[in-house]
Amino acid sequence: MEDPRREELRERLASVRARIDGACRAAGRDPGEVTLVAITKNHPLDDIRRLVELGVHHLGENRDQEAAPKFTQIKAEGLTPVVHFVGQLQRNKAGSVCRYADVVESVDRAPLVAALSRHAQAAGRQLQVLCQIDLAVGDLDPHRGGVQPDRLEELADLVAEAPGLSLRGTMAVAPLGEPPEAAFARLAELTARVRAAHPDATWLSAGMSADLEAAIAAGATHVRVGTAILGSREPFR
Ligand SMILES: *Cc1c(COP(=O)(O)O)cnc(C)c1O
Repeated sequence: MEDPRREELRERLASVRARIDGACRAAGRDPGEVTLVAITKNHPLDDIRRLVELGVHHLGENRDQEAAPKFTQIKAEGLTPVVHFVGQLQRNKAGSVCRYADVVESVDRAPLVAALSRHAQAAGRQLQVLCQIDLAVGDLDPHRGGVQPDRLEELADLVAEAPGLSLRGTMAVAPLGEPPEAAFARLAELTARVRAAHPDATWLSAGMSADLEAAIAAGATHVRVGTAILGSREPFR
């Protein structure tokens, strides 16, 4: 049966993959080093099913309220994408996120580390964790979460020692009001510091629809792309 939305997603996905390949070539990197995480927030379950069918293995959402029912259903259908949680996370949602997320990219403070560790252990799970860094300088951009750069190493140590959690690297969103290249250069330097202390923390999640090329040039291993694949849409509920 014809499914125009599937064709649309297939084409948009191909063009995002071509952008990733081009950015890797320009940076002298192997495209196999960069994982595409499709951010499906505001889009319905049918789009998630289509993306999985089209070969997308990594999916992400930024709100527990929306992500929990979607991924509970997806997993009940026997689909097994790697699920990334990428949004601001309240401590009281840590237990819920632990049930469906494989990677939590947005860990930015000690109490959240403790809550995730406790729930991961209780659920018998090992969560992959990225420390989200706040790259906003001054008041140029509303701060959208993330640890301040001078507290990063302390936070990374805490995650590395927490049972149930594996420190895998860092994540950031480029702030508005500054070229992404400048922000991602700071991010690369901060990430190198974490890696020096924790050699297994090899992931750098940076780059979205508008700035994935700059992120790949700065060493991103994961790009989080929503709009360029799925289009823009009003909040799902
Ligand atoms: C929505 C979102 C993305 C994807 O952004 P697009 O501009 O739609 O590609 C990436 N990261 C986070 C944390 C998000 O909330």
